[in-house]
Amino acid sequence: AHLDRIDAIDTGVHAFLHVAGEAALAAAARIDARRAAGEVLGPLAGVPIAIKDVLATIDMPSTAGSKILEGWIPPYDATVVRRVRDAGLIPLGKTNMDEFAMGSSTEFSAYGPTHNPWDFDRIPGGSGGGSAAAVSSFEAPLALGSDTGGSIRQPAAVTGSVGVKPTYGGVSRYGSIALASSLDQVGPVTRTVLDAALLHDVIGGHDPLDSTSLTDTWPSMAAAARAGLADGALKGVRVGVVTELNGDGFQSGVSQRFTETLALLAAAGAEIVEVSAPNFEYAIAAYYLILPAEASSNLARFDSVRFGIRVNPEDGPLTSERVMAATRDAGFGPEVKRRIILGTYALSAGYYDAYYGSAQKVRTLIQRDFEAAFAKVDVLVSPSAPTTAFKFGEKMADPMAMYLNDVTTIPANLAGIPGMSLPMGLAPEDGLPVGLQIMAPAKMDARLYSFGAAVE
Ligand code: GLN
Repeated sequence: AHLDRIDAIDTGVHAFLHVAGEAALAAAARIDARRAAGEVLGPLAGVPIAIKDVLATIDMPSTAGSKILEGWIPPYDATVVRRVRDAGLIPLGKTNMDEFAMGSSTEFSAYGPTHNPWDFDRIPGGSGGGSAAAVSSFEAPLALGSDTGGSIRQPAAVTGSVGVKPTYGGVSRYGSIALASSLDQVGPVTRTVLDAALLHDVIGGHDPLDSTSLTDTWPSMAAAARAGLADGALKGVRVGVVTELNGDGFQSGVSQRFTETLALLAAAGAEIVEVSAPNFEYAIAAYYLILPAEASSNLARFDSVRFGIRVNPEDGPLTSERVMAATRDAGFGPEVKRRIILGTYALSAGYYDAYYGSAQKVRTLIQRDFEAAFAKVDVLVSPSAPTTAFKFGEKMADPMAMYLNDVTTIPANLAGIPGMSLPMGLAPEDGLPVGLQIMAPAKMDARLYSFGAAVE
């Protein structure tokens, strides 16, 4: 049914870069056979799932939205992909994204943008707009995304979906094509909090193939979500409202829905506490030094030899340097080039302390803001994004305008803490979905699920 739905509407939505087709039907038949033979399978066995194209899949191209990886089929599965297959989920295909996960709208995909199912003239968020659009258009019940600065939560917010960025190290990054290694985290995109929890339980937990993977044992996120559905689950929960993540620059309908949500939380017995995080105002500046620095280093592997396409220079000698330059010129899009140049500059000799070093110090200050806040409250909340889905082209000419859209989501990545976005109604002025962001202390992902399920 989901393949039929994709067939019927994906020319309009363009959530998918590759559809598994027959391979998905064969995988589903295998699950049916195992179930018929009496095998007891997990709760998500047989459920289809869409996979962001940043994740390596052994049987499908993995391009990360870039021309430079056009047609590349990895020799292995990302750990999260392996785990969803082992749990019996059925990969439906690979979803569209901004090139190498750089962007907030999917307009930087080398394969054309994804359209927001709520309004085809608007962006579905980014970088994981394909995964969010697939879920919200009922092309897929579940999807995987990756979140470096908001790429799961912001697309979830603007498409009316649920998205979770787990604690850094809680979900394996092995086989996730790296953007910024100290920020990247894979997570679920779904229609309900319980669905996200069930998927989190499948993909989470230690992976020896990822050197930053935590060795903790995690509680069941699904059990936490179910606990949140009990009556009175919000009673006495201390909810911190981050002053810096609302107000100026936020669309009025977004702020209005947020204020109403706070009133509902208070009515349900939660204690609303205003908290200030004074260093959040530097989060975007720090992020846009740390991210390009790490990205410029990670993307050095696309050298025309090891992966993807090779392009020869039009004339002159075929030296390895000139072939590399011609390949990168043809293979990388404008945003990727911009960030590689920024990153190499920030890391160059003599500038390291002034840029990357300072940004790391700001990162520590932001972590301390979170620690101070979580000493007073159980969870922090804010709108997930300052605006609803904007129109195509609106922010393409101005990189800063695009970057500012991540003001709400970036702090959680810089601190490595978990964050969730869930729907909180539609903005009255445009009828488009608005997201509520919830953040919890590191390793307290379960708290997000119980609180999220209670709010939902
Ligand atoms: N929009 C942010 C950026 O462009 C976030 C990207 C992400 O989370 N992958 O960097």
